[in-house]
Amino acid sequence: MLSQSVFIVLLNLVSNSVYAAERAEAVGTIREGKLLHGFNAHSFLSKNKNVQLVSPEEFQFSTKEIADLINDLAGWVHEKWNRPILVGDMSLKSGGKMASHKAHQNGLDVDVGYLSILEKHSGHRSQKFHNKFPEIFDDSGKLSSNFDKANNFQIFKFLVEHSDIKMILVSCGVKKAFVSDESLSKAERAKIRSKLLVKPGHEDHFHIRISCPKGNTKCDDSIPDFMWQDVNCKI
Ligand SMILES: [Zn+2]
Repeated sequence: MLSQSVFIVLLNLVSNSVYAAERAEAVGTIREGKLLHGFNAHSFLSKNKNVQLVSPEEFQFSTKEIADLINDLAGWVHEKWNRPILVGDMSLKSGGKMASHKAHQNGLDVDVGYLSILEKHSGHRSQKFHNKFPEIFDDSGKLSSNFDKANNFQIFKFLVEHSDIKMILVSCGVKKAFVSDESLSKAERAKIRSKLLVKPGHEDHFHIRISCPKGNTKCDDSIPDFMWQDVNCKI
């Protein structure tokens, strides 16, 4: 029989090698990144009945950290409002440029559908291969009445309180509505606002980017100054 100490050493060796071989790691920057040992978030999140995946497996690899965040967010949304969240593009298995995205290169990004008041099950992107979000909520800065302001802003609050969020990309109408909304406290709004950036293309979903996970030493999560401003949106 193995002595207890030999057994523990063996167990550590096995678990360390599994860990080293499998832990996904973000490398590089927002516009030039890679993903090592990409984590299959599609497979992981498909086990969560509160997640509706709207992109194929090949577009849903990531770090474990952002997959865990989405898993937690889905559980929280389900508990609060008994509804699923829509999850779109993340990264390719080895990262790098993906489809028409500028980011989504190193496993730190994910697209998530806004919550609507009345749910739609298919819509303007139904013919698309990926990021098949069903509804546009923003028409040139004017927000649709089906956009669930209070609950979407609660989601932003959950995200900034629950994780190390680098930024959340939204549409102009969403940011305008957020700035004038008073359902959250002043301090909560200030914290969220410092992460909210307007970029065209976020009329049917928002984009979450997290900071580099601890230990990802080749990851650079800085946002260049030229990107750190709202586009085509005066608030
Ligand atoms: Zn995105």
